[in-house]
Amino acid sequence: MTIGVLKESFPETRVSLLPEQLASLKKLSIDFLVENNAGEKAYVDDAHYEAAGAVISPRLQVISRSKIILCLHLPEENEFHLLKSKTIIGYFQPLYQQGMMEKLKQAGVTVCSLDMLPRSTRAQTMDILSSQANIAGYKAVLQAANLLPHYFPMLMTAAGSIPPARVLILGAGVAGLQAIATARRLGGIVEVFDTRPTVKEEVMSLGAKFIEVEGAADASSAGGYAVEQNEQFLERQKAKIAASVAKADVVITTAQIFGKKAPILISEAMIESMKKGSVIVDLAAATGGNTPLTQNNETVIYNGVRIIGDSHLATSMPYDASKMYGKNISNFLLLIMNKEGELQLDFNDELIKGACIVAPD
Ligand code: NAD
Repeated sequence: MTIGVLKESFPETRVSLLPEQLASLKKLSIDFLVENNAGEKAYVDDAHYEAAGAVISPRLQVISRSKIILCLHLPEENEFHLLKSKTIIGYFQPLYQQGMMEKLKQAGVTVCSLDMLPRSTRAQTMDILSSQANIAGYKAVLQAANLLPHYFPMLMTAAGSIPPARVLILGAGVAGLQAIATARRLGGIVEVFDTRPTVKEEVMSLGAKFIEVEGAADASSAGGYAVEQNEQFLERQKAKIAASVAKADVVITTAQIFGKKAPILISEAMIESMKKGSVIVDLAAATGGNTPLTQNNETVIYNGVRIIGDSHLATSMPYDASKMYGKNISNFLLLIMNKEGELQLDFNDELIKGACIVAPD
């Protein structure tokens, strides 16, 4: 079996497999082809891959000689015909790219997108949404702390006392929980909203205050994800959020509904109530944002408040992001290959069925 690792295009900095991860897969008799400079932006040289037993090759050779191709984003559309009868594995967000998925099907490609894995305990070691959201949550707080014209921690100095920063976090999924932990480590006072009451204990164990809004829609059959809420709930939630937004120096928003547009949780009027110099980091920017002013991958300044819509935060930590992504991919490869190193896609397995969203008929 030959597996290829592609170099990603700008602005991506991550790579789908690191040299250190080749070793655990080599025992399956896999030959690795790695595109020239694939790890460059993650600070990994071709020589590191060669030392781990991979062969460095130009892109076309990697694609033509590999049976399985690893990447983060989809290869170029004009390369789809080269992928016939091959399996590509990555982070493709197929629900937002249905046209591309149709073209890949027509080209005879098998597509496994690890963001489509069910969020079950068994899938945890392959869960790219979690590994990358964790980084985004951490970096969101650091970015806000960098831009805020205040300290995060409370300080009592000879030059006067500084109150702690007040941080509001909307959505306590993977990114939100990491944001809470990071903001607390920096000394901020943290308040949190989520529609899933089950996260209350986790939020409190991280030292944050959980603000409850009664009557959220039951999400128990949504595979762990949140579901859309009705108008009455959203109105009640908005009133409570408004009070917290007005006091906050930093707001980190992470609320998403799987496969749908993100809910608007912060209105323009709420932003107007914030102190000038405050910072909002909207981690739901790629799916529409949690404020009406969020622009994906841009920073908007409104009434003196910065609204950062950076959906590439994981790329700002390329080594560890690649390390975690590569580990997720390695675990998925171990699931879909037998001991002889042959590809075995068992569609009776709910993980494989969930992730393999395009397969030949
Ligand atoms: P996500 O990115 O889909 O959403 C972020 C958070 O926003 C969620 O906690 C969600 O409840 C919340 N949210 C949605 N609408 C909201 C609203 N109107 N107001 C406030 N909050 C709102 O979440 P995620 O981090 O991808 O996690 C999704 C689910 O998967 C969670 O239940 C999580 O515990 C679970 N999970 C399971 C595994 C696993 O077992 N493999 C791994 C990670 C996460």
